[in-house]
Amino acid sequence: MPVMASDDFSVHTDDCDRFDDGMPISDLPDEVGSIDDLDCECWSDFDSLADIE
Ligand SMILES: [Zn+2]
Repeated sequence: MPVMASDDFSVHTDDCDRFDDGMPISDLPDEVGSIDDLDCECWSDFDSLADIE
């Protein structure tokens, strides 16, 4: 499940250590249109958005 960081609203995987006390979210934000929109390297294990959801 993706997690949204509370400080900068970046989105991370739930095993990433960079979201601090973030909030689990069930759906990716509308702004995220491709895997390239997810900046953090914690997403590098995924090939596409379809693999996340
Ligand atoms: Zn991350």
